[in-house]
Amino acid sequence: MEREIVHHPRAKIQDYASVVGASAIEDLRALAEKLSGKAIQNINSTFTGGGVAEILARMVPLLNQLGVDAKWTTIKGNDEFFGVTKKFHNALHGRAEHISSEDLSLFLEVNKKNAEELEFEGGIIFVHDPQPVALVAKKKECGEKWIWRCHIDVSKPDRKVWEFVRNFVVDYDAAVFSAPNFTQQLPIRQFLISPSIDPLSDKNKEISSEVIDSVLGKYGLDKGKPIIAQISRFDYLKDPVGVIQAFEMVRKSIDCQLVLAGGAATDDPESEKVLEESRDRASNNPDIHILPIPPGSDIEINALQRASAVILQKSIKEGFGLTVTEAMWKGKPVVASAVGGIQLQVKNKFTGLLCHSIEGAAYSIKRLLSNPEYADYLGKNAREHVRQNFLITRHLKDYLLLFISLYYPSDIIYL
Ligand code: UDP
Repeated sequence: MEREIVHHPRAKIQDYASVVGASAIEDLRALAEKLSGKAIQNINSTFTGGGVAEILARMVPLLNQLGVDAKWTTIKGNDEFFGVTKKFHNALHGRAEHISSEDLSLFLEVNKKNAEELEFEGGIIFVHDPQPVALVAKKKECGEKWIWRCHIDVSKPDRKVWEFVRNFVVDYDAAVFSAPNFTQQLPIRQFLISPSIDPLSDKNKEISSEVIDSVLGKYGLDKGKPIIAQISRFDYLKDPVGVIQAFEMVRKSIDCQLVLAGGAATDDPESEKVLEESRDRASNNPDIHILPIPPGSDIEINALQRASAVILQKSIKEGFGLTVTEAMWKGKPVVASAVGGIQLQVKNKFTGLLCHSIEGAAYSIKRLLSNPEYADYLGKNAREHVRQNFLITRHLKDYLLLFISLYYPSDIIYL
């Protein structure tokens, strides 16, 4: 079992009042009190890389500050296991994958081993995504309430893989999805809770133009040329090759540069291959900067997002897309595929531009580069949309209400 060590300075819960108002923080404190004596144990498959780790790294310390005993542990697995779970991930997103009976046995075996070795310490066991879903076998012995949190767009899953995962999901007390069309036919309670970003984290806080310039210098980027950026793990579902193709179309008529920045996640064995393919496709074009970024490069990502003229998110499938939220919070115009949770964020022509193809992405990028006023209008609306809907304070409130509601038989909560 691994445990995250939180040692860098964090914003204090009261600091968020300057962003969302003091009463929102008072609400959180009142709700948190209702959970005194309950421990909440989050379990997922990685401490670094990807949106789930990103959220937990902020959520857990803030819950602790509110006096809620929240913990975060990860399961252990070898490359073979994460190879199988990556196939699950792709198949649940609707991609065709061959999953053998050996794959399923390995999945069950690793979950069983983790179930034996993990210390289950929470009244509420909060399991994230499919990798640890089968831990629920321990429900009779440990924990009072079990929640399964799905961060994936499961609106059109491969049926066989979904049925396999569903067999475990039905044993939980509740399931949480990010968007209405991801919900499923289940005999348990379902909650809709969208993800969030932390406005005071290193990734999202205000930074000076000196810091931004120094990051541009570090990566050899030309300050005078508009930057189009996609910040994402190197994953087929993020379509980095499609990003390069769209950029090449834009570059024919506008002098600009592309930044494709991202690292790997410890639970994603495919990233090296996707990175190589992206490099091959970029074929030494001096205007394309492929930047492998190590974990923890939050200030660098913040600076790259702030330095960009347009942020692209050309995903083929997307559970939510925190990278979109991060860009929108920074007042950036976003061009993003009309898929999954992105559609909760980008309201076309109001908080960004949605695209349906490589050509469509290129067209929208050109439009934004040649019309800064329009880009600014979308960016401003984007920031407000995030302030109202996708900040961590709203997410904390939803989670606290979810935890409390599990202890009440009806949907009525007396505060
Ligand atoms: N991210 C990061 N380093 C990288 C690539 C991504 O810190 O090299 C962060 C990114 O800023 C965002 C999260 O990881 O906060 C990715 O979440 P998202 O929902 O966009 O996609 P996921 O990776 O979960 O599919």
